[in-house]
Amino acid sequence: MKITKIIQWDMGHRILNHRSVCKGLHGHRYKAEVTVSGDLVNSTTKSEHGMVMDFADIKSIAKTEIHDKLDHGFMVWDKDEELIKFFRESEGHKMVVVPFTSTAENVAQYIFDAISKQISDKFGTGLKLSSVKLWETPTSYALCERQS
Ligand SMILES: [Zn+2]
Repeated sequence: MKITKIIQWDMGHRILNHRSVCKGLHGHRYKAEVTVSGDLVNSTTKSEHGMVMDFADIKSIAKTEIHDKLDHGFMVWDKDEELIKFFRESEGHKMVVVPFTSTAENVAQYIFDAISKQISDKFGTGLKLSSVKLWETPTSYALCERQS
């Protein structure tokens, strides 16, 4: 069984070497569909009885790992020296430095890795993060799925 929680946040970025408008500074309302999979919890004494995982727990992990770190932030590739210099010399910005250029594909992978680390098979049901679908615009998404 799979269940999905959706989180949204606002974030700026640029694609440094992009051939067109994406190399300029701009932002998106990002949306991530976080899907976890596993068997249903069998134990009648557990709060999660009949669930894959409590939606509130997915929300809590996504809030801590993604929303609170990225919302109203600006994601900067660590090779983007011009922007790093700008943010270091000015105040009031939330710079999020990452070791990759912030394409939807790379951000989806980043979110997958961050959330996956926080989900353990605590019920013995094979609970794990299954996929992250990251919407960068209302018509464009990247889907990062578990490989194994
Ligand atoms: Zn963009």
